[in-house]
Amino acid sequence: MSIYERLKNKFPNYGDELLLDSSTASSLYHDNTLALQIKISSAIYVQSELDIVALIQLAIDNNFILQPISSGKNWGYGSIASDDGREIVLVCLEHLKNIKVIDKELGLISVEPGVTQGALKQFLEDNNLEFITPVTGAGPSCSILSNALERGYGITERTDHFYAVNRLRTIVPNPELWNLDDKLNGHIFESAIEGLDKSDEDFIHHSFKWDIGPYIDGLFTQSGMGIVTAATIRLAPKSEKTVMFYLKIKDADKLNDAVDFIRDSLRDFEGSVSATNLMDKRRLLSMVTANPNGTESHTNMSNSQIEELKRANDIPEWMIVGSISGKSKVVKAIKSYLNERSKFADEVLFSDGTKIQLGKWVRDNLAWVLPKGIKSQIDSLFEGIDIAKGKPNQVALPLAYWRNPRVLPNKGNVLNPDSDQCGLLWYAPLIPMNKTKINQFVNFIRETTPKYNIEPLITFTNLKHDCIDATIPIVFDVKNTDAVKSAKDCVNELFDEGVKLGFVPYRFNVEQQITKLAPDSNHWKTAKAIKLAMDPNNILAPNRYNP
Ligand SMILES: Cc1cc2nc3c(=O)[nH]c(=O)nc-3n(C[C@H](O)[C@H](O)[C@H](O)COP(=O)(O)OP(=O)(O)OC[C@H]3O[C@@H](n4cnc5c(N)ncnc54)[C@H](O)[C@@H]3O)c2cc1C
Repeated sequence: MSIYERLKNKFPNYGDELLLDSSTASSLYHDNTLALQIKISSAIYVQSELDIVALIQLAIDNNFILQPISSGKNWGYGSIASDDGREIVLVCLEHLKNIKVIDKELGLISVEPGVTQGALKQFLEDNNLEFITPVTGAGPSCSILSNALERGYGITERTDHFYAVNRLRTIVPNPELWNLDDKLNGHIFESAIEGLDKSDEDFIHHSFKWDIGPYIDGLFTQSGMGIVTAATIRLAPKSEKTVMFYLKIKDADKLNDAVDFIRDSLRDFEGSVSATNLMDKRRLLSMVTANPNGTESHTNMSNSQIEELKRANDIPEWMIVGSISGKSKVVKAIKSYLNERSKFADEVLFSDGTKIQLGKWVRDNLAWVLPKGIKSQIDSLFEGIDIAKGKPNQVALPLAYWRNPRVLPNKGNVLNPDSDQCGLLWYAPLIPMNKTKINQFVNFIRETTPKYNIEPLITFTNLKHDCIDATIPIVFDVKNTDAVKSAKDCVNELFDEGVKLGFVPYRFNVEQQITKLAPDSNHWKTAKAIKLAMDPNNILAPNRYNP
């Protein structure tokens, strides 16, 4: 009997729209930005926690793999890891969409895997809850919960999305760990605090992240040790005022000044100044212009093309983008400090300043007089401001289409780089907040990616005053075999040479999770021992961060 038939027998109430056979599931989930060949035996849109429990039991009894996904949009990293010889059943959690307010004064909200950024924002608005959705550049259609499980981040006040999670509700795939005396909740992993709390309030574990004893919730992130069915998130309150700042730096040699400015701002105004982006000219151009070589080309922009586009679009060598949030008086004071410290920049703009407000007025009232490049710059600027305020949008997604000759990114539609057949891999290493290392990194990227005809697009997302994550998108034509090989060679060289310089990614794509992590190291041997205890049959995403 096929796995699909076994699932049909086990879940007779699941119609064809909830339980997909191999060919339907494969056609829906086949395309991905990594050009991976994925074979799926079935996909099931689970409707309840008890059905997840039944699925786990079925997978153990029949030795197949369960691959959970929430929104399944891990573009550039891969939502579905490869198989290990066994058949894969995709556990689609997107129908679990409940949002529960744990405490509306404190901003503690529990979300299920199917709650997207767009849905949470709508929920907060509909219920007059004055809190901010923790958005990412991936946009409104992506799950809040799975991004936290990936340990992703954004640029709102709650930058580190897993840090903002106080409690996960998880089913561990080891029936021996279930408490079957408790029929309703016995399959759910219970934290130590929850177990000790004898009140009827069911509250305290939602408000404290670290539990007691070994911190176990962390084991369910970047791993295949449990299926998470809800997360309690500590949302940031809406600020009285949020102001974006933009520093344009025309002289490439002033990168060091930019680093000083960012480090000091994040250190001195922690909590008020959130994650700050530093982008180079090529990355800025990719946001506001079409690929001058055409999307079918595998050639990088030439220096003369870059200079011409820079001039036409008033693009600097480097640009710093950040936000200040808080009480109006505090924001005003910080603005004044930042203004003082940003003398090295060629232009400093604040989103509540005259120039930007004027730009907004002209865009809203006289859009037709604006050259296309300038209009799209103003649009991107305001979409960026919305992101910082927790309003998700698709402003970052066209990047994935830079070398896609098949589909134009029309932001009026819901964009999906997987099904639109974009080619994208991320190289996302951690960089010390240190001028020498940052310069070394810039040179490393600008020397390495052109060898593979990959455009060196650089963004530094400065998470804290002492830590930066660089996100380098490797954009290629996913339908061109040579381009795919080049892109993968490129990301592998970046990893291999990068670690020699101390640049280590915070997150890996599903192929590098297998090839680049050292199974014999102390860390991974320990992780494997824990995985064995949690999932003795190794049925849950066996290749996910499990070398
Ligand atoms: C242009 C662009 C910009 C981007 N910007 C950002 C950004 O700013 N920040 C950022 O972090 N990322 C960003 N991304 C990367 C990525 O698209 C997002 O991180 C996205 O949110 C991850 O996909 P997902 O949430 O749909 O996760 P899924 O694909 O649903 O899940 C990812 C993995 O988590 C595991 N998983 C998911 N749900 C569960 C569950 N309930 N229980 C157990 N395991 C589970 C699975 O193993 C799965 O493989 C960007 C991508 C693009 C193309």
